[in-house]
Amino acid sequence: MYTNDDRCDVLVVGAGIGGVCAATLLAQQGYRVLLTERLNRVGGRASTEPIDGFLVNTGAAAFEFGGTLEQVCRTVGVPYGADPATGRGIRVPRPAVVLRLGRMNIDLTPVIGGWANGTFRWICRVSLDRLPRMAAKRGVAVEEVTFEQWLSRFTKNRWIHAMLRNPLASFFVTETDELPAAAVFTFFAHNTGLRKFGFHPEGSIGLSRMLLDRFTEFGGRLRTSTEVRRLRIEDGHVVGAVLTADGAETEIDCLAAISDAGPRATVELVGEQHFPQSYLQAVKTVRPAALMAVNFAMPTSLGRFGAMTFGPTRNSRLLELMNFTATCPEMAPPGWHLYLGWGLPAGGDFDSERESQLLLEDLREAVPGFDTARVLSVKVNRDDWPAQHASPGTDLRPATPIANLWNVGDGVKDFGDGGMESVAKTSRAVVDSVLRDIPVPGRH
Ligand SMILES: Cc1cc2nc3c(=O)[nH]c(=O)nc-3n(C[C@H](O)[C@H](O)[C@H](O)COP(=O)(O)OP(=O)(O)OC[C@H]3O[C@@H](n4cnc5c(N)ncnc54)[C@H](O)[C@@H]3O)c2cc1C
Repeated sequence: MYTNDDRCDVLVVGAGIGGVCAATLLAQQGYRVLLTERLNRVGGRASTEPIDGFLVNTGAAAFEFGGTLEQVCRTVGVPYGADPATGRGIRVPRPAVVLRLGRMNIDLTPVIGGWANGTFRWICRVSLDRLPRMAAKRGVAVEEVTFEQWLSRFTKNRWIHAMLRNPLASFFVTETDELPAAAVFTFFAHNTGLRKFGFHPEGSIGLSRMLLDRFTEFGGRLRTSTEVRRLRIEDGHVVGAVLTADGAETEIDCLAAISDAGPRATVELVGEQHFPQSYLQAVKTVRPAALMAVNFAMPTSLGRFGAMTFGPTRNSRLLELMNFTATCPEMAPPGWHLYLGWGLPAGGDFDSERESQLLLEDLREAVPGFDTARVLSVKVNRDDWPAQHASPGTDLRPATPIANLWNVGDGVKDFGDGGMESVAKTSRAVVDSVLRDIPVPGRH
């Protein structure tokens, strides 16, 4: 590990999954990387905090298999799937997904992971090709045809609409009547398509911890409870940063910086005067996507499953239920079962208190025994702690007008992508740019 406290090659602002992936990949390549995190824990919105002996996630719960995040782990030598010897790594729930129908749980795993997934992907590819014709008929741009409009051409059945709306709204964090159909088709035609997912037994923070073990082995330096207050600019380039920790300010020099704080926060760290108006305008169009989360525990089990999906609910707030302890019993004290209900709030400038009550009502109706559950947390993730920094179609690109400054994270993901998987892609792309533009000092 290098010890020089006032310089590094690459400064990474924020130890969310995006910052952690970028920092670890760069440290592996020989860069001297300083990773700073203002909170006292790593993982950002994919982290975990203990509440009364339960491991409660701060946001993300489900890790996808078969995509870039798994590849990043493999590249740096971190086992992704559960290690049979230690149990560490992502565990796959079985059954993965059930549909709650009255008092029954219907196993959808063969549909989601099997033949129907392939058929759905095929439908998505064909639909993507045909979308321009549908858009032309309506006289709108392709991105303006919503999934709801597309589906309504085939059926008005409210069960079918709800059964597709709930998982899609949960993944894209957008109502299907605002969600571009092109985003859905692009995701299923060209990405992982949610075929296989799992949970980490330490909670979602577990994967960041495993990556950061490698990061420090590669010589990277992590400073938690350390906030970047300002990025210093000279001649249009980032040359360093002002950090605060324990009330004390320090300065650090760097050759390049990567921000995981979200595009708006990045602009604030640099100062608007350093960006062209066109970029500032583009940043203003990035619209965060809000999602509600209720973590609760019950002494009785709701059955074996990873995720439960629903048909229509009374208030249309409840989207999905996650069941952690059927797969990762370590996440709760003995005798307890840990669950998480996700809900989509009304759009616009909604009332968080009222929306939470509507979600709790939905949970009371859909989950047997919810009245006796221990509610551990009710959280509305919005504004600067959203489910996605950018709603579908409002993302920026990772590069900024400042040549040695990049964003990673879900504010700069690809169109039709979402979640940690999309974030890992931004990290890998930014690492490629750093490798191209900022040679490892001393190597060339
Ligand atoms: C309720 C909810 C459920 C979700 N469920 C899933 C899911 O199941 N699966 C999935 O794949 N995705 C899910 N997501 C989305 C996923 O959590 C995010 O896409 C992903 O975690 C974002 O990672 P990030 O690195 O882009 O940003 P973040 O996790 O936000 O990390 C940014 C970090 O930067 C730090 N930071 C900010 N400013 C500074 C500064 N100035 N100095 C130092 N540090 C700073 C922050 O404290 C934070 O830790 C969910 C999100 C939410 C909120």
